[in-house]
Amino acid sequence: MLHGLMMNQPLLISGILRFAERAHPTREVVSRRAEDGALHRYTYRDLAARARKVAKALIALGIKPGDRVATIAWNGYRHLELYYAVSGIGAVLHTINPRLHPTQIAWIMNHAQDTALFVDTTFAKLLAGVAPHVASLKHGVVLCGRAHMPAETPDALSYEELVDAQEDDAFEWPEFDENIASCLCYTSGTTGNPRGVLYSHRSTVLHAYAALMPDVMGLRAVDSVLPVVPMFHVNAWGVPYSALIAGAKLVFPGPALDGKSVFELMQSEGVTFSAGVPTVWLGLLQHVEQNNLRFSTLKRCVIGGSAAPVALQQRFEREFGVEILHAWGMTEMSPLGTLNQPIAAQASESEDEKYQRKAKQGRGVFGVHMRIVDEAGKELPWDGQAFGALQVRGPWIASGYFRSESGAFTADGWFDTGDVATIDANGFMKITDRNKDVIKSGGEWIGSIDLEDAIMKHPAVAMAAAIAIAHEKWGERPLLVLVKKPGQELSRDEALAFYEGKVAKWWIPSDVVFVDALPLGATGKVLKTELRAKFAGHRWPEGV
Ligand code: AMP
Repeated sequence: MLHGLMMNQPLLISGILRFAERAHPTREVVSRRAEDGALHRYTYRDLAARARKVAKALIALGIKPGDRVATIAWNGYRHLELYYAVSGIGAVLHTINPRLHPTQIAWIMNHAQDTALFVDTTFAKLLAGVAPHVASLKHGVVLCGRAHMPAETPDALSYEELVDAQEDDAFEWPEFDENIASCLCYTSGTTGNPRGVLYSHRSTVLHAYAALMPDVMGLRAVDSVLPVVPMFHVNAWGVPYSALIAGAKLVFPGPALDGKSVFELMQSEGVTFSAGVPTVWLGLLQHVEQNNLRFSTLKRCVIGGSAAPVALQQRFEREFGVEILHAWGMTEMSPLGTLNQPIAAQASESEDEKYQRKAKQGRGVFGVHMRIVDEAGKELPWDGQAFGALQVRGPWIASGYFRSESGAFTADGWFDTGDVATIDANGFMKITDRNKDVIKSGGEWIGSIDLEDAIMKHPAVAMAAAIAIAHEKWGERPLLVLVKKPGQELSRDEALAFYEGKVAKWWIPSDVVFVDALPLGATGKVLKTELRAKFAGHRWPEGV
């Protein structure tokens, strides 16, 4: 074989920043600040200069290549500076989800052996609480100036003081192997301890490239992007990298994530593109509908992290003309796996067919190989019917967990996602369930996601979860847990009757319970483990 004669320039995260500074110097980054609620704005040129100063400050603190540097912060410009500065000097940015329990945060930090922790003012108490329990921790830094330094953290450093201590921004980003670790993100770990996914510069840059393809997120220089998805969970789906490559404006909501605040920021900053989990959009739509508002610039939203109910997609598209892109991925996949964009053969699909398609999670992005296998590991056909364990492989998919063993990696080099799915002849993948959440009735599987999607079309339903509860005769039967929209009435029988003709008869839940709210985990997913525990003793009605 003959070697190619092309430059072997490593794919480094600092290369993205360097490019943005050159190609899009005046593009803005707008952020709602945690410490004073003010809107801060500067340009990519400013970002690049500040990131170089932060890099120098990190080195001055004694942070070395390979050290883990943790953040507990909202989406904002200082967090963005750390994204580039920490990885840029060859250290590892460890983003932590503040919604986790403090003991779990301390566990994660000890496991990662973090040497520094940067927090927004909101999380000063958290910093004060966990710091004594993390032996490796040498520095606590609060992301604000001296004037806003919280009383709870008298020993912490002020981020702005660290930056100001650097006389100038003269700094050359070091070059190193693209396979060096860049970021660390722990899975939410609903069962067992969380597990660390260690991204590399190469995987991050390739993922950011792929996200920019027109049939993926397709960000453009003219876009204004508001990632609602947090920078503390899977790097905000790569948006902080992709936006800089595209030259899109970045708009960060900080801690203000309620429907009203997000809507107002979208309007005032001309946001054209956004991304987040379904629960966020439910809140936003409720605000917009209740107040009779319209989005004047928003064009596209990526929804992922849990299944995007068809009813939610239809509200966005039909009432507001905002296109929904249903996406699927995981922490282990950086996270992008699939995105639902039509193919040419679907150009003449009917409205019904369109939304049947859009209920699916979509086609694999180039770079992500998928297969579905049965219990014996035999590959299943792509016919839209056969369902099995979804396995993936590709250059931005984890090959193992950080300092932890797992059976999720197969001997032939695939990662078992833990999701159960079908794939149709056009390559559209559909998650039927998380394998831990499947409902097995009389030996057959019932897809809880389909049950939820169907009832979400009922006008009185705000949220729904279908869970497996033990049943004497059938092993398990589906119990439907519903949250009604404010002021709406709905009975058990009406809810069940709504399923007639929409799903197979034996799939129809055996009972319904109404609750005020569903328990949500740290990443906005419904905690079915908690619901199953809560309703474990549920008594089925007579005759069920
Ligand atoms: P996380 O690693 O916390 O991002 O969670 C990844 C898991 O979320 C996946 O394995 C799926 O079970 C679930 N998930 C993500 N996106 C979707 C989606 N669009 N539809 C259904 N489940 C999803």
